[in-house]
Amino acid sequence: MFRSNLKQQDSTLLNLKDPFLKEIIQYWTKFNYKDDNLDFASTYIWYNSHIRIENRPFFYRSWLSAGIKEIRDLLDNDQNFLSYNAFIDKYSIKTNYLEYHKVISAVAHYKKVHSTAYHDPTPKDVVDTLLSHTKVSKKIYECQINKKASIPSRSQGKWLEERDMHCNLSIIVNWENTYCLSSLCTRESKLRAFQFKFLHRKIATNDFLYKIGIKQTDSCSFCEEQKETLVHLFWTCKYTQNFWKSMFEWISQNFKDLENVSPSLSLCFGLIDDVKDLLFHHLLLIARHYIYTCRLGNKLPTLQVYTQVLMNSIEIEKQIAFHNNDSNVFVQKWSRFKNNLSQNLLH
Ligand SMILES: [Zn+2]
Repeated sequence: MFRSNLKQQDSTLLNLKDPFLKEIIQYWTKFNYKDDNLDFASTYIWYNSHIRIENRPFFYRSWLSAGIKEIRDLLDNDQNFLSYNAFIDKYSIKTNYLEYHKVISAVAHYKKVHSTAYHDPTPKDVVDTLLSHTKVSKKIYECQINKKASIPSRSQGKWLEERDMHCNLSIIVNWENTYCLSSLCTRESKLRAFQFKFLHRKIATNDFLYKIGIKQTDSCSFCEEQKETLVHLFWTCKYTQNFWKSMFEWISQNFKDLENVSPSLSLCFGLIDDVKDLLFHHLLLIARHYIYTCRLGNKLPTLQVYTQVLMNSIEIEKQIAFHNNDSNVFVQKWSRFKNNLSQNLLH
């Protein structure tokens, strides 16, 4: 079974009664199935979605017991199919000409369809590849992600088209760093989840809610003057601008090495090039999420409430660090906080 090459939908044809086994086989086929790049002669015959009789992959136990596994087992020295008589002489299997002919036709059909697809002359057996790793589950997880993941080019393109992105210097966005940033900054899952949705532009703003008939108006929850788009809500709105300004002033006064920072859209949104200053990006991520909670609670963002929210986040981080025995990392990170409020938190 592990050498088979079944498409997931073909695995349902197996008529397995045990639900556990059925599920295992389904996951295995999803993981293992290869569309092409199989070397013809070493292709495994049994339960292979490319080789079908009456439109089903098949398996003859008596043939396997006689040693027939790969297509090469049906070939002679000149790489031609064995004649029926030569086959019977070689394997002494109970079969008939018709059955043998059906198998040969199925394999010949496979050869015809896939003759242009042999890219890899020495395909690695998946089981061997997996067993060579010490962390097999991790390897399978990585492979599954690679098969499923796709680059969100639509949301990336939309971000880069935003006019306000380029109002100062031309911005370089390193997307890999941008997507990793929130999980490097914090362990708080609400912040990570928020940033994930934010980067994929999946935060529902009135602009969208009005279009789908959920809201009566598309105007901004803060100023009620302009259309509430993602960029307006988190950046251009006058109330948000005021908040960013006061927030940047406050952090430049209260944090070491952040004396000269000034707000920009790419910075405030976490669309970044490098991930050097994680503390700074953490402060910005908390601010971004805070603006979002203000929008949900119909309140205007203020510096005073932001600092309270920040203190709560630091307290959570402290508890997690204490639990994980890495208080040193925590203290080192937040020792840049010069504010008196922080002193109790650090000790
Ligand atoms: Zn507004």
